[in-house]
Amino acid sequence: MQFEFTEQQRMIRDMAKDFAAKEIVPIAAEMDEKEQFPADVVKQMGALGFMGMNVPEQYGGAALDTICYVLAMEEVSRACASCGVIMSVNNSLVCWPIETYGTDEQKKRFLTPLAKGEKLGAYCLSEPNAGTDAANQLTTAKPDGDGWVINGMKNFITNGATADLLIVFAQTNPELKYKGIRAFIVENTAEGFSVIRKEEKMGIRASDTAQLAFDNVKVSAEQVLGGEGTGFKIAMSTLDGGRIGIAAQALGISGAAYEAARVYATQREQFGRPIGAFQAIQWKIADMATRLHAAQLLTYRAAWAKDQGGRYSEESAMAKLAASEASHFITNEAVQIFGGNGYSKEYPVERHFRDAKITEIYEGTSEAQRMVISAMELKK
Ligand SMILES: Cc1cc2nc3c(=O)[nH]c(=O)nc-3n(C[C@H](O)[C@H](O)[C@H](O)COP(=O)(O)OP(=O)(O)OC[C@H]3O[C@@H](n4cnc5c(N)ncnc54)[C@H](O)[C@@H]3O)c2cc1C
Repeated sequence: MQFEFTEQQRMIRDMAKDFAAKEIVPIAAEMDEKEQFPADVVKQMGALGFMGMNVPEQYGGAALDTICYVLAMEEVSRACASCGVIMSVNNSLVCWPIETYGTDEQKKRFLTPLAKGEKLGAYCLSEPNAGTDAANQLTTAKPDGDGWVINGMKNFITNGATADLLIVFAQTNPELKYKGIRAFIVENTAEGFSVIRKEEKMGIRASDTAQLAFDNVKVSAEQVLGGEGTGFKIAMSTLDGGRIGIAAQALGISGAAYEAARVYATQREQFGRPIGAFQAIQWKIADMATRLHAAQLLTYRAAWAKDQGGRYSEESAMAKLAASEASHFITNEAVQIFGGNGYSKEYPVERHFRDAKITEIYEGTSEAQRMVISAMELKK
């Protein structure tokens, strides 16, 4: 067992840390306040290779391992969780399925600009009636000559209003239930595609989350991702990797809140002593640090497992469950350690507290992660 990062992993982490400190930290609070999509940051992340970190070089990616991706995600999310989710969706939910299930032609045409950061991707699975029950797809795809026509609505889509390319899941034959689902790569310029509305959110407010409509959207046969009956498998296997990205996002949020609280505990004085001298605060610090490190270990293990090949559904579900619940706990305790200042927008912990909550909801709620984990445990 190895508990050390490689030189390359440390280098990527340091590069991401420097970049985030210089380019993201100074503008993160303002972007959150104004719900401003970080277009410049996304462009810079593309130039650094952060938008296609695990994609092979021949398709414009950085060809790095999943631990590098987790470390970069952690640093970016520590500065701004909105930037983190934009990066995570492009890498895990869009580049990965095209790299894994796409034809060479699709990789050249769609994956390469996504991995280079020239184009942005979105993953469209959720619908008003298909949340945790993601197989209940009411969006349809019907054959039309050589291609397909898509009709339906997608809900809560990250990068939905901004993305150039969208992976859209649709039902081709309701009688086949989940086996009738297929995946399509849709361009945002397609006739019939529109943004219905953008969500106003509690946290990750600089990220764009949109409800989308597909009204007789035509796609060619070259835009079908994977074979017949594989759409649901593509959707679920993609989320296995996505959950590692969201676990890393949660670690970043936790790390930022923990560090701010740790420093504050040494500086803020009450009763003539730093509040860190009181056992009530010391125990919070101990619990926060322990949960953060436990979640880190599970997340790095899931990233490692992904790179070994084979299945890693349970490892990624455990990582996301532990990291998201740790971030809920840690950001809540951080606000508590800051007292009244924790509730004020003058300090960053209230933003971390708001940002943490989403990590327990998207890419499968904590209840859904427990379903995945328990199903695998009980099968053993
Ligand atoms: C900011 C944001 C960004 C998102 N980005 C994307 C995206 O890019 N692409 C995309 O496709 N989706 C996205 N989503 C959707 C997200 O994945 C769903 O919201 C999530 O899967 C939960 O679905 P739901 O909201 O319909 O909740 P529901 O499924 O209605 O669940 C409501 C509650 O019931 C619980 N529940 C449901 N079924 C069960 C069960 N069988 N057993 C126990 N408890 C259960 C849930 O855990 C939850 O607590 C995003 C959501 C948000 C808020």
